[in-house]
Amino acid sequence: MLLADDNRDMREYVQRLLARRYDVTAAADGQEALAAARENPPDLVLTDVMMPRMDGFGLLRALRAESAIAAIPVIILSARAGEEAESEGLEAGADDYLVKPFTARELMARVGSHISMHRLRLELTAREHELRTKAEAAEEQYRAMLARISEAFVAVDREWRITYANEQIAGLSKVDAGDVIGRDLWEVFPGLAESKFGRVYREAMECGRVTRLEDHYQPLDRWFHANAYPSPDGLSIFALDVTDKRIQQEKLLLSEKLAATGRLAATIAHEINNPLESVLNLIYLARISKAEIGKIREYLATAERELTRVAHIARHTLGFYRESSAPGDIDLPALIEEVLTVYHSRIRSAGVEVTRDFAVVPAVHALRGELHQVFSNLISNAIDAMREGGALRISVREAVDTPGKGVVVIQDTGVGIPAQHLPRLFEPFFTTKPNAGTGLGLWVVQQFVQSWGGTVNVSSSTQPPDPGTRFTIFLPLKSVSETQNKTNGASGGLM
Ligand code: ADP
Ligand code: MG
Repeated sequence: MLLADDNRDMREYVQRLLARRYDVTAAADGQEALAAARENPPDLVLTDVMMPRMDGFGLLRALRAESAIAAIPVIILSARAGEEAESEGLEAGADDYLVKPFTARELMARVGSHISMHRLRLELTAREHELRTKAEAAEEQYRAMLARISEAFVAVDREWRITYANEQIAGLSKVDAGDVIGRDLWEVFPGLAESKFGRVYREAMECGRVTRLEDHYQPLDRWFHANAYPSPDGLSIFALDVTDKRIQQEKLLLSEKLAATGRLAATIAHEINNPLESVLNLIYLARISKAEIGKIREYLATAERELTRVAHIARHTLGFYRESSAPGDIDLPALIEEVLTVYHSRIRSAGVEVTRDFAVVPAVHALRGELHQVFSNLISNAIDAMREGGALRISVREAVDTPGKGVVVIQDTGVGIPAQHLPRLFEPFFTTKPNAGTGLGLWVVQQFVQSWGGTVNVSSSTQPPDPGTRFTIFLPLKSVSETQNKTNGASGGLM
């Protein structure tokens, strides 16, 4: 601390008192004291009023005028009693005023309390600054992140007033991000309140849980994927325009549907051609055989069996093509049986043995053609993987742990899938069949299964002695009462 007094006795007396507890620098006048304070800022300045060159008030004003030393507490010592002097000192910005004569005790108490308060203030200021810098840095980082994301972002308080929006929201309404602060969310986005998005946002706010929705947004005639995250202050909403993604997906699905139909037609033609050729051959044999009625009967019986097979295939494929655009109740075992009929020849010529393990389960509510394509792709992949023969095991049952879910397992003993391929398996165009595959099969499987509220899992091994692949499909089953009522739910399909 710094002590300024021109009276030598007084100075030495006060210095002695204070030196018991503090480091004291003494100065004989204001100028000297100011120089010392600049040189080495003290925790406190104790100054006499009447001094040559610069008096106590002059020193006080000089200290307060320099920011580096302005905060140092100043106590004025004066012999001038009375209100006038005291108010002059305090007005000039002194922290305290001690009138001579004062006791040692009084001096020590005042000095002690001003020094500790000053230290506390310094500490608090430093802390506050540190916090503010941290908060500012955090906030800046956060805003920069929000500006970079491709999603539009809007934060609202609990009264739905917008507290922040990034630039990307300009795409959603005709307003600038800056102009919407403080405005009502529903007013800035007309039509939002009545949309499904509005409902989902209100739900997030009321129930305090994260909600998501991908839906068509009528006011802009675009598709959006939105996530709403509640917080104690309100809600953060992220919205991404997914219209282009959906258009591309639908195009791809449509072309794959057409291609699947083409492949199926080729398989069916092949399937029908074999028995027809054999029937033609039998008719020829019957025609040229002389008299032997028993032989001719035998030819006809064989021809009948072959034609029964043709009729069987025709019936099943008719079932397939009778597909309507409305979803219906589908019996999984029957559907899988149909698919197996179509692949009968390929299965036989690959030397694949099929085992079925079908439990009686409630129906699945879905589009028949789509589910047909799902099992057709999985079974056809399995046959592709078993060129040297093998076993194809298909089971259908209700999930034990989650009743209401049907589980279809399609397991082959084929070549298996290398672990590094697994993460890419469901990507469109991923194929290891350079000339034969489109790489869309599994992607379509996943799209369809997910659109009906299901999931697809895969596990596989390429290691002898048990290589092979197992696809597990979970699909929601209708409850028995639903099946009886034949309720027609809305299509969850993409197309
Ligand atoms: P594609 O059959 O046209 O190649 P998919 O999407 O149906 O396209 O399958 C992608 C790839 O996944 C296949 O090329 C194959 O490498 C692998 N795969 C799929 N199913 C099996 C299976 N059951 N066994 C081994 N590999 C498989
Ligand atoms: Mg395939």
